[in-house]
Amino acid sequence: MLNPPAILVIDDEQIIRDGCQRILSKDGIRVETASDGNTGLGALNEDNFQVVLLDLKMPGVSGMEVLNRIREINPEIIVIVITGYATVESAVEAMKEGAYDFISKPFTPDQLRSVVKRALEKIALEEEAKRLRRERERNLQDIANEKSRIKTIIHCMADGVIVTDRENKIVLINPAATRIFSIDDADLNGKILSSCVKDEKLNQLIEGFFIGECSYSAISQEIMVGRDKKIFLRAHAAPVKSEEGEILGSVIVFEDITYLKELDRMKSDFVSMVSHELRTPLTAVDQQLSVILEGITGEISEKQKEILCRAKARNKELMNMIKNLLDLSQIESGKIIQYKEPIDLNGLLSKIVSLMRSQALERGIILEFEPYDPLPLIDADVNNMEGVFTNLVNNAIRYTLQGGRVTIKSGVKGEYVKVEVIDTGIGIAQEDLPKIFDKFYRVKTAQTRNIMGSGLGLSIVKGIIEAHLGLIEVESELGKGTTFTVFLPIKS
Ligand code: ADP
Repeated sequence: MLNPPAILVIDDEQIIRDGCQRILSKDGIRVETASDGNTGLGALNEDNFQVVLLDLKMPGVSGMEVLNRIREINPEIIVIVITGYATVESAVEAMKEGAYDFISKPFTPDQLRSVVKRALEKIALEEEAKRLRRERERNLQDIANEKSRIKTIIHCMADGVIVTDRENKIVLINPAATRIFSIDDADLNGKILSSCVKDEKLNQLIEGFFIGECSYSAISQEIMVGRDKKIFLRAHAAPVKSEEGEILGSVIVFEDITYLKELDRMKSDFVSMVSHELRTPLTAVDQQLSVILEGITGEISEKQKEILCRAKARNKELMNMIKNLLDLSQIESGKIIQYKEPIDLNGLLSKIVSLMRSQALERGIILEFEPYDPLPLIDADVNNMEGVFTNLVNNAIRYTLQGGRVTIKSGVKGEYVKVEVIDTGIGIAQEDLPKIFDKFYRVKTAQTRNIMGSGLGLSIVKGIIEAHLGLIEVESELGKGTTFTVFLPIKS
């Protein structure tokens, strides 16, 4: 709206013109006047007015004609006609021609103010409506631009993207996804996700979003597709929720990780090949050192013996590390379990305890076993199980100071046989606990500096236990001790 609002009064009676000007100016309105139709139309052509107060009965050009001309000049100008008592009919006529309102002579200042106020309010409302309309159009344009931008981004993505509705029907699929799953997007309309992505586990997890079984906000799952050429994918799925938290559908992004898998396989093959090649010469060195140490090649001095013993110990460490690397590559290739049989863990544990007791005693540590009797059998590979518990007991002895105690306890928890290896040793700091099962991870403190190791033992232990569908947990307090608890499924 013009500021201040502008009104033109066209009337041949000076008293009306002056009266209107005086009354309305007081309300902050700019008021111009014209004494006949032609002068009024001239003023309208030169200046901007929002409201015209128009006398219908004037000499010269008639009020009705002026009204029609005003509508031609600018149909948005509001015209209020001024009539005498006897001319109400012509006022009605004028309103049919587009006048907004009328006021009859003689009128009071309040009547004038009220009719003008209504007119100005109507203009203000119309302008607000126009502004809102413009804003809406701009918003719609923004949404359209945003949509087209998102569409372009999704279409250009190298990763596959699928969006489903709440019935798990596909509503959007990008070219990368149609390529990965070899599907024609022409016949996709309304197809259910599981008919294109044939991975039972992933489909179950995604359906879990809809039936409220799945509390995750996102899931990540490896899947494999393709018959002739296998493609490994990592699927990242997340539910799409409304502001009220209602599930509207899901978005799944498929990342091709085939090359990573291939790299991993090549790395394992390489480690395995190198380890095999190293094992033979190292075994030969060990045997030859034994021959010299046993005096078969002639007498050796104490000094020579000491040096050779150290060389033999170092060689043994190397052989251990190679064995660990080989075990790890077997775990990673899923070939660690060679032969499963029913095992009584009590028997196996007491054998390990008696074999390691002298090592513990040498270090001034008490090693004891508290069997739970009768202990249910487990179905496992004996060599693997010997490896697991030897490793845990060996660690407990190595990381416990003289005068300490290592206790092995067997037991049952639910469907599992439970074995605890408890020590009163140096303990592990809370921040290190989540990392000790990582490959090559060793806690570095003044107390561990002189203890030899490769940091591979616990990752092998965990790998073997998980391959037997079991679980390993650790609890520890610095300076107080550590407890490793292994759970293995009872033989069905
Ligand atoms: P390492 O060959 O170094 O012993 P492991 O994988 O067996 O490798 O163990 C990883 C790390 O976990 C060790 O370096 C050690 O710091 C810590 N650790 C393992 N067992 C114990 C234990 N019983 N008490 C204290 N620390 C332990």
